[in-house]
Amino acid sequence: MASGRMRKHGFTLKESSSLPTSKFHLVPHTCKVLSSRLSDGSVISPTTMPMKRIVAPSKAERASVHGWLEAMKNLSPPRMRCMQNDSFEDKTDCDLMDVKYRAWMSEHPSALDNFNAIIEVSAGKRIAIFLDYDGTLSPIVEDPECAFMSDDMRTAVKDVANLFPTAIITGRSREKVYDFVQLSELYYAGSHGMDIMGPAQGCHGFKAQGTKALDEKGNEMVLFQPASKFTQVINDVFKLLEEVTKNVPGAKIEHNKFCISIHFRCVKEENWLALAEQVQHVLDAYPNLRLTQGRKILEIRPSISWNKGKALDYLLKALGLGSRNDIFPIYIGDDRTDEDAFKLLTRRKTGLGILVSKTIKDTNALYSLREPSEVLEFLMHLVKWRRRRLNRLM
Ligand SMILES: [Mg+2]
Repeated sequence: MASGRMRKHGFTLKESSSLPTSKFHLVPHTCKVLSSRLSDGSVISPTTMPMKRIVAPSKAERASVHGWLEAMKNLSPPRMRCMQNDSFEDKTDCDLMDVKYRAWMSEHPSALDNFNAIIEVSAGKRIAIFLDYDGTLSPIVEDPECAFMSDDMRTAVKDVANLFPTAIITGRSREKVYDFVQLSELYYAGSHGMDIMGPAQGCHGFKAQGTKALDEKGNEMVLFQPASKFTQVINDVFKLLEEVTKNVPGAKIEHNKFCISIHFRCVKEENWLALAEQVQHVLDAYPNLRLTQGRKILEIRPSISWNKGKALDYLLKALGLGSRNDIFPIYIGDDRTDEDAFKLLTRRKTGLGILVSKTIKDTNALYSLREPSEVLEFLMHLVKWRRRRLNRLM
């Protein structure tokens, strides 16, 4: 058989020697998966899950698998090349990129260079800090299980949390990100904000509203899980995805409680289409789930009207800060999913978003930082500024 794949009569035919083997090797693009047999012999049937679509799919959700990949590639820009060893043509390209980057930076200037301006605009208001995790507090790494934050970053986040209401809002599972961060002073919103937990009695006397729960140490917590009824369907889809992608070299499927991440970071680009098609074939049978794209990642989540912006809004209300106009939320994040939080702050006309990026991106954030090391510097500046101010007041 010729290498690569052929499209014929609405079918995708993949070469078995170079692509992963699965029952989906020859399938119509429009087919629905009615049931799937797992390796342990059990059968999963989506028809046994009487879940109805809650929100109509967006244009992006209806886009083809090629659209997903294109969006994912656009969010995963190549590293900027080193100017010194490039050819003349490459240098011209780099010059052009540099000009464009500087123009973008004038619209989204450095939050470090403009630290004093940020403090000035927040004058008279109480700052609250909201942080993404991957790519913001930790570097993006090949193995998502190894996205550790540095001890310096942990100290900075702990100091920030002792001075300002602070929460982490991440696509990871809440438990996973807590394992990475290991700070009990914070609120954690996992699964893109679909799994929120924090101390019932927050810092500075803030009392969060919500369902009371106890953590494993018996501390009183507040728990909010708007997608709790999707637990079973997410578990089922995770098992299916594990099965159909197990032979894709480098593919990693991560269970994030109320969403699932499919990591492409260690998959050769020539296998991206095959992997995305496997995901599509599974997802086709679950209209109550939707797919979003990030940096070398596809994510499956419940089709409910909930995102990091809604989670930020909930947290502000839970902390008793939502209706106060003397609160100044600062949200720092690096990914497309963080844009919902940036948009919320723009709508609120108070607070600001900071995008972490070394490259040009469409964003609703006002300011930018290049990488987690600059986030660390920014957080340390905040701590020093607040401590100086408190010392002056004493
Ligand atoms: Mg991130």
